[in-house]
Amino acid sequence: MRLVLLGPPGAGKGTQATRIVTRFAIPQLSTGDMLRQAVAEGTAAGLRVKHIMDRGELVPDDVVVSVIANRIDHSDAVSGFILDGFPRTVAQAEALDQELATRGIKLDAVLELEVDEDALLDRIKGRADDAASRGEPVRRDDNPEVFKTRLSVYREQTAPVTEYYRSQGLLNVVDGLQPIDAVTEQLAAALAAVTSDQIRSDVR
Ligand code: ADP
Repeated sequence: MRLVLLGPPGAGKGTQATRIVTRFAIPQLSTGDMLRQAVAEGTAAGLRVKHIMDRGELVPDDVVVSVIANRIDHSDAVSGFILDGFPRTVAQAEALDQELATRGIKLDAVLELEVDEDALLDRIKGRADDAASRGEPVRRDDNPEVFKTRLSVYREQTAPVTEYYRSQGLLNVVDGLQPIDAVTEQLAAALAAVTSDQIRSDVR
């Protein structure tokens, strides 16, 4: 099962991706995590993207596309994966389609978590406060000012990706304001429907 998980920052993509990983035994490929790791390790790519990430802007498409293209060739991703935080622009979505096509594979479904912006601002403040109260480091881009930038970047550059996948008939939208378990169940139900459709068309 090859999946993309879409949704604004703070929508709960990471939480839900972790659960899908367990249920479907596919790895979660998070560009945010991979880039943060590159920054922590001080690699050339990490040095190039650190300041961009701190400002809440998008790193260049070629950087993330090559990170993902390398990652999907690892043995654990051969039978499937869930992409979290990628693609974030229509150009990335097109590049992903090309990368998959050269490997003779394609996406099975795109899942979108829909959450309104006021709820997101509350959540992100909660996430930063929770991390601080546990004595854990707060992500540098989890402060209200940078978060507003991330939201406007999402609106302008990432929201059109939804339409890209809707027009391909791949999009499944789930209300991300429901309790965490309810969101998981709706995502699983959407995936079950995709799987049974595929089995039916294989039989035909
Ligand atoms: P979020 O909590 O907003 O989902 P992520 O952990 O996915 O955050 O990403 C953190 C930052 O990493 C983004 O604000 C951006 O700077 C960078 N980033 C992650 N994925 C991409 C991508 N696909 N394209 C461009 N930049 C990305």
